[in-house]
Amino acid sequence: MATEPTIFELSSPGRRGVTFPEPDVPDAEIPASFRRESLAFPEASEIDVVRHFTRMSQKNHAIDISMYPLGSCTMKFNPRINEAVARMPGYAALHPLQRQETAQGALQLMYELQEMLAEISGFAAVSLQPAAGAHGELAGTLIIREFHRANGDSARTEMLVPDSAHGTNPATAVMAGFSVVTIPSDDRGNVDLAALREKVGPNTAGMMITNPNTLGLWDEHIHEVVDIVHAAGGLIYNDGANFNAILGLAKPGHLGVDVMHYNLHKTFSTPHGGGGPGSGPIGVTETLKPYLPGPVVGKSENANGETTYVWESPEKSIGRLHGFHGNFGMHVRAYTYIRMHGAEGLKQISEDAVLNANYLKARLEGPYDVAYDRPCMHEVVLSASKQKQQGARALDIAKRLLDFGVHPPTTYFPLIVPEALMIEPTETESKQSIDYFADTMLTIAREIEETPDIVTGAPHTTDFKRLDEAGANRSLNLRWTEAKEPEPVAAG
Ligand SMILES: *Cc1c(COP(=O)(O)O)cnc(C)c1O
Repeated sequence: MATEPTIFELSSPGRRGVTFPEPDVPDAEIPASFRRESLAFPEASEIDVVRHFTRMSQKNHAIDISMYPLGSCTMKFNPRINEAVARMPGYAALHPLQRQETAQGALQLMYELQEMLAEISGFAAVSLQPAAGAHGELAGTLIIREFHRANGDSARTEMLVPDSAHGTNPATAVMAGFSVVTIPSDDRGNVDLAALREKVGPNTAGMMITNPNTLGLWDEHIHEVVDIVHAAGGLIYNDGANFNAILGLAKPGHLGVDVMHYNLHKTFSTPHGGGGPGSGPIGVTETLKPYLPGPVVGKSENANGETTYVWESPEKSIGRLHGFHGNFGMHVRAYTYIRMHGAEGLKQISEDAVLNANYLKARLEGPYDVAYDRPCMHEVVLSASKQKQQGARALDIAKRLLDFGVHPPTTYFPLIVPEALMIEPTETESKQSIDYFADTMLTIAREIEETPDIVTGAPHTTDFKRLDEAGANRSLNLRWTEAKEPEPVAAG
């Protein structure tokens, strides 16, 4: 079958998309050693370039095309007002080395974002430095380490991590120099209290919890968990990736959490990007405030009695974790999002996110097994164990969804649920789009009963079938190479 030529094949010497004016300055001498004889850039007209990138963009799924229920990732819609504000020249054209007196508006925005995040979560202070959730985890666990060191408590080398935790938690704990002690879950998906009591002790530096956890469940013993760890002298780190479930409903700081990160690219609607800039600020209690990574923005009055915003370094700071001031463009977007919603709006976000997930649970339970049979928070974890016995696995269901134009949910995580399908609709989906997803999942369940080959052979409609995803991540090669006959792709 003929395929449309790519931009590389369309390339023709001298073809141009733009014309430059004749230079009105003399040619500069570029040293020969700086020059390359050939750079394999295609020479193409404007329409070819536009078509190339438009077609490329359509080969990827995106939240702007359809639902993206990737559990734990909170793939909510990125409101366009965020982008409009981030592009305002007063923010977009700032230079990070500009003197702070000339960037007061930006500092005020960061100061107010620090304050709003602290208020929403019940903490004393926030640092905006970390660039991702995992980076926030590193900041938080380093703070825990410094806190114990400052107290001369050098025996505290163990970090407790539940078996439902995201992989970044144990990885971060190890990076921060701790050894990981895994705590199992009980049969309702909570932290197993008996196991916790057994493992906690004088070597415990702290515990990394996620509440609601990655099973989409609120820990029914959260107060006991916090008390047990605190009584043993440990601190509580809360992985705030699931904060979207409890905005305006519960404050981690009031639950006894000592330090937590926020994923601005999840809860606060900034784009996830293709590995692009994220933002993972951390919030801490009064006791841990001096350890925050800096600089942070403070507020003071100048000699004329005017408010000024200034960079401050917390006195026992663990140091700097990011060049300049964190991912400022993301701060602008999250600030805009919070101000657009206000306190009542934030609460509504979480109520709707929880409602949507429970609606989906109600529509899918039966045909699919629900991992833990109790009301969920903002996401629901199903198991495709039954489907596996009928001949199609969670992975096959994920691939089949692509034929219906829907992004698959997270699969095979949490690790403690066999054939896990972790679904997070988020509050930004309408009932109609959630129903489309549910109807599609039910159609696939029927297909597996009747004609499983359709599902195990999926996807049928995408340009590429099943890729080696781990390989694609580990040895990414984005270089165009001349087309060969496509190799047949084995299913399964
Ligand atoms: C996304 C996520 C993380 C890591 O956050 P990044 O911003 O991707 O680094 C950690 N824990 C949980 C539960 C998550 O969902």
